[in-house]
Amino acid sequence: TPLIGVLAVQGAFAEHRQMLAKLGVNTFEIRQLKDLDREFDGLILPGGESTVQGKLLRDLGLFSPLQERIQNGLPTFGTCAGLILLAEKLSNDKNTYFGTLPVTVERNAYGRQLGSFYTEENVEGIGKIPMTFIRAPQVESVRDGVKILAKVKGQIVAVQYQKQLAISFHPELSSDLSMHQYFLNQIVGKH
Ligand code: GLN
Repeated sequence: TPLIGVLAVQGAFAEHRQMLAKLGVNTFEIRQLKDLDREFDGLILPGGESTVQGKLLRDLGLFSPLQERIQNGLPTFGTCAGLILLAEKLSNDKNTYFGTLPVTVERNAYGRQLGSFYTEENVEGIGKIPMTFIRAPQVESVRDGVKILAKVKGQIVAVQYQKQLAISFHPELSSDLSMHQYFLNQIVGKH
């Protein structure tokens, strides 16, 4: 079975580890540079606050080594803030982070009224699943090679590009394991 590194500088990393444990998958926390000494098969970028995560990644010296691994094809699953970290462009923020995913993302795209909400929608290749949005980003536009996996209220909330899977919502806050299973299938080459 694969070994998954979960970025654990801030945000919902513990919940992701629990989901993967339920699927019988070993994980470890990436908190500092020496955590990258081991070999691993996939990376999870959890939800949280992208500005804080971005700053900590740089301060801890994790930014470039992780960016390089993602660029070199390490299967990566970004949720919410993780999607923001992967995006090549942010429409309402001058910062960008890894920039490995050729999409434009709007941060906090649902406004104040709809800051957080729950829905159920179809994901391509999975079916209808629960989706929890918390001050979530939206994918505004995608470039060549990006596959749209799900939309909510007409807006793109899940995409795949090569080995990067990125979604606006928080699968780790439900008991539905199918998004994590989808990511694992991608690692072992099922799609
Ligand atoms: N609003 C957060 C950000 O901009 C993302 C929210 C989340 O990860 N739940 O980073």
